[in-house]
Amino acid sequence: MVEKISCKCSDRYEIDIDSYSLYEELKKFFETEILKGIYEDIPVLKPILLFDDFKNVVTQWYPDKWYKCSVCGQLWAFEYPDFPAFGRIYKLDNNGIWHGACR
Ligand SMILES: [Zn+2]
Repeated sequence: MVEKISCKCSDRYEIDIDSYSLYEELKKFFETEILKGIYEDIPVLKPILLFDDFKNVVTQWYPDKWYKCSVCGQLWAFEYPDFPAFGRIYKLDNNGIWHGACR
């Protein structure tokens, strides 16, 4: 009998990390899921790019972590908070490209 492993990627959304306790909680979440084999800690290969209206790169930055879901393949970026700047967790596409709205 094969045990079906499921992930919660589709239930989870992008989240701002506005407190140290939330940061600790999310960090622990990924650590636990990695031990269970659900997520993989993979190297950050690409920066997040922000474009202006003329498709010029205005700014770019690297998230602190990339996590890849072993179940559904979803790629997640984790930016640690640097208070007062919030941290953030958000989804990337399979090529590591971010399609979210401007922050
Ligand atoms: Zn998943």
